[in-house]
Formats: sequence, C-alpha cells, structure tokens
Amino acid sequence: MTKYIFCTGGVVSSVGKGVTAAAIGRILKARGLKVAIQKLDPYLNVDPGTMSPYQHGEVFVTADGAETDLDLGHYERFIDEHLNRTCNVTAGRVYMNVLEKERRGDYLGGTIQVIPHITNEIKRCIALVAKETSADVVIVEVGGTVGDIEGQPFLEAIRQMRHGIGRNDALFIHVTFLPHIGATGELKTKPTQHSVRELRSLGIQPQVIIARSDHEVEKDLCSKIALFCDVDQEAVIPLVTTDLLYGVPLVLEDAGLGEYLVEALGLPRRKPALSEWRQMTARMRELKDDHHDTVRIGIVGKYVELHDAYMSVKEALFHAASAQNHRLEIEWIYSGDLEKDRGWDVLETVDGIIVPGGFGYRGIEGKILAARYARERRVPYLGLCLGMQTMCIEFARNVLGYEDANSSEFETTTEHPVIDLMYEQRGVTDMGGTMRLGVYPCRLAAGSKAAAAYGNADCIEERHRHRFEFNNEYRDAFADGGMVFSGLSPDGQLVEIAEIQDHPFMVGSQFHPEFLSRPNAPHPLFSKLIETALAERKAK
Ligand code: GLN
Repeated sequence: MTKYIFCTGGVVSSVGKGVTAAAIGRILKARGLKVAIQKLDPYLNVDPGTMSPYQHGEVFVTADGAETDLDLGHYERFIDEHLNRTCNVTAGRVYMNVLEKERRGDYLGGTIQVIPHITNEIKRCIALVAKETSADVVIVEVGGTVGDIEGQPFLEAIRQMRHGIGRNDALFIHVTFLPHIGATGELKTKPTQHSVRELRSLGIQPQVIIARSDHEVEKDLCSKIALFCDVDQEAVIPLVTTDLLYGVPLVLEDAGLGEYLVEALGLPRRKPALSEWRQMTARMRELKDDHHDTVRIGIVGKYVELHDAYMSVKEALFHAASAQNHRLEIEWIYSGDLEKDRGWDVLETVDGIIVPGGFGYRGIEGKILAARYARERRVPYLGLCLGMQTMCIEFARNVLGYEDANSSEFETTTEHPVIDLMYEQRGVTDMGGTMRLGVYPCRLAAGSKAAAAYGNADCIEERHRHRFEFNNEYRDAFADGGMVFSGLSPDGQLVEIAEIQDHPFMVGSQFHPEFLSRPNAPHPLFSKLIETALAERKAK
C-alpha cells in the first residue's frame, strides 16, 4: 500500500518548496523506503519545454524523455532515483487528456466539468506515479501557493484523494514563510495562520507545517503556530534559509520530521542511514569558508542573469568541485558581451569554461569566441549540447578554414552546415515535445579523453534534448584536422561526443551530463573538467 504526502505552499512562492519536498524524500529514503516525488504545476502549458528559461528556469529532462520542471532535478539529486514522465503533470496536460477523451466520445452525452472530470484526471495522474514507480511513499508537491485560482482543482483533487486513501496513509504538509519585520525585529506568524485558514476552507487540514524563515525561529513562535493552526507542537518544523541546499534533509531530520512522518503514516521505524550524507554536507560546508582553495569556472551562456536557467549545470559543478575539495566559484559571463568586447577580463581569469545548452541565435557568436579562446589558450572546456555544437562551428571556421561554417539552426544558407537538423526532425512542425529527448546509449572510443573520464567504460547512457546534430559529411575533414569523435550512437550514425586531440580537455557532448550528477556521485565529465582545470592551473 503506497503512502502519500501532499505538500502545499502558503504565503509566498520561491521559498524552496521543491527542495523541501526533495529533502523529505531523502530522509524517508534513508529509512530504506522507496520514494517517488511528483510535481503538479497549475499552469496551462502542457509541459515547460516550450517556455523561455526566463519564465521558468531550466527544463529538466527525465530518462524517458519528458521535459519537466526544474524541481524534478532537485528531486533526483536528493533521492537519487530516475523519475519518469508521470512525475510532472501540468493543468495543461490534465485538460488535454480530458479534452482528447471528450473528442473521442468517451463521455458521450455528458457535460464535462472541472469537478469531477478534471479532478478525477488529476487523481488518476497522481495514482499513476505509484503504479509506475512502485514507491512505498509518493510525495506530491503542488506548485504555486494556496489561494491561486488555477491551483484550486489540484487542491480539491488532493483533498478527495486523501479522503479516499484514509487518514492513516496520507497526510498534508504545508510549507509557509514567516516574514521578518525590521522595525520591531520580529517574525510574524499571521500570514501562516491566514494561509492555513484558506487551506482549511478548502477542506484541507495540514498535519505538518514547515515554517521557512530568513531568521532563527524561537520555540514559542512554533507553539503559537501549533496552537492557532491546530497542529501538533512537534509537527511545526522551522526551516531557516541556508546556503547549502543539501543540508536541508538534516535540518528536517534533526527537527524530528522523519520520526513524525513514519509514526503518522504507520511506516516501519528504522534508524535513518544519514551518516554519509552528514559527512558530505559537513565537507561541503567547510569548503564554503574562504581559506579553502577555489576553482573558478566561467559559464558562458545567454540566460546568465537568471541562474535557475542553468540549475543542473551549477549543481553538477558544485558536486564535482566539492568532491575534489575545492570551493566552487562560478563566473557568469553573458556570451553577447564577448561579441562586444566585454567580459574578456573575467573570462581570462577562469580555470575552466562551460558553454551550456541553449536555443536560437542570440549570443551564439560569443559562445564561438569563447570556444576559440579555450582552444587556442588550452583552457579546459566542457560544451553541453549547444556548447558542443559551438565548439564544432569554431573548429570548422578557424582550424579547417570554412569561414561561413554554422549550424543550420542559425543560418540556413551557409555553405558549410557542420551542425544540421537531424534526419528524423525534417518533417516535424510541432514545437512541443518533439525533440530527440531522453536517454540514449553512446559508445566511447577507447583511448579518448571522454573514455578516460568515464573510467574506460565501453558504453554509457545519457539524456538528450536537441534537434540538431553534427553533420556526418564533415566527419573526415574534422578528424583530419584533429577532432576526435569519442562518443557515437551504437549504430555509428550520431556524434554524441567530440573532443580536441591536442588539448588538455576540450570536450563537447551532444547530451546533457548535468542531469545525472549527484551530490555524492559527481558526473565524470564535470569531474574531469575540474580535475584538468586544477592541474592546468598548477602547471602554469
Ligand atoms: N539548439 C540546439 C539543438 O536543438 C541545442 C539544444 C540544447 O542545447 N539543448 O540541437
């Protein structure tokens, strides 16, 4: 019998509800339970794949090729499970499913309504997670905050769901925020009280309240929340803002949340295995102190003002740097600046460069300039998807002399489309969910830098999200010029990894390795980037 934990948010958004859900997952997993986490997003896009990173941050790709909310990245990094497409459901997806059924005639004669048709579909989508993952506990996070109009069907659905499952097998956690009034130096519980009142008016009584705050929360404040919101004293968990996300599971555990949850849900009471996690976070915290050696990586991208757009890249770098006992410092460099002769002073100081994924022409020439700089100055470089493509364009232009080389994504009339639309993409007209998505195998070339990074593995599996690929017509010319195609699809048709032979580490992957990095298991390509960056700096 699967147990359910429903997480709602109150007062304001952006207080880290996703990380909190992920952290709850980790403390339950530490008790030997199989955990899955689902995000319900009340917006009307069918998935975030067509949204601008400025709107939504990174699009996280699951193994089965779903384009999902970035919170799924937190979930996977914390619970270390491969989630699937059932784990992110938007209102748009729910409506689409219902409307498709309506057109098929499944409801012939009926009037289709939010209640019960939309709510039933939401319930079906929630139940599907348990079915597909066979998890002991499914944590369901409802996006947005209580009071949002578009969130209402989701709250009604989880209310009904809990009614159906019963009190012993499902509970509600409400994540709120305690604002700090500067003039009196006080934290305020009133917005929390209001938000719980709003929830109760919808028939949902939270059993646990997680009170986020930027300041220390005194015990009597927790008692006040317990009294006014009618929850157990020990079920009010303060969660003070932290600079180390991976410390959150320990804060929750040490506040007694793990015990409380297993008790409330009738789960086996086991001692949580968190000692390795504790050691890991202790080390990460120590590295945050200034006196530690720092590794400086430049991320040359076009959405750099919004770091959330590169969430998994940022985390993957942090995992790799921490594992090598270095404090990570990221320099965010807008690629468009490099085109205008700005930002070079910063680029010249970094130990390694990442050009991450992206779409569209803006900032491309700057990324190509960054690749040229990395190649000529022998600065360690990791290109992720688009970053692999720009690395190839640069090589074509400046090593092979194809001056107009480009990707046909940016220039359809170029004589040298070294990056071109994939054959399967030719007839595709819809934008949503139609890229090459999800996990694909890749064979590594023995003796290559990529193979060495992966511990001389033969074949690896990585996650993809792209429409364009390396144009095979140019393989021989590139190889003659000193580019090694060190990762190919098993049929040899697709270039998945390219690297420059005569360079300490200039590797580009057509896939997105950042999605598979874990705090306690950094990704090999990121580790190799950091390792070479440190070695090269030392050699200078
Ligand atoms: N725009 C490129 C493509 O579609 C790269 C995509 C990406 O970086 N995810 O192939």
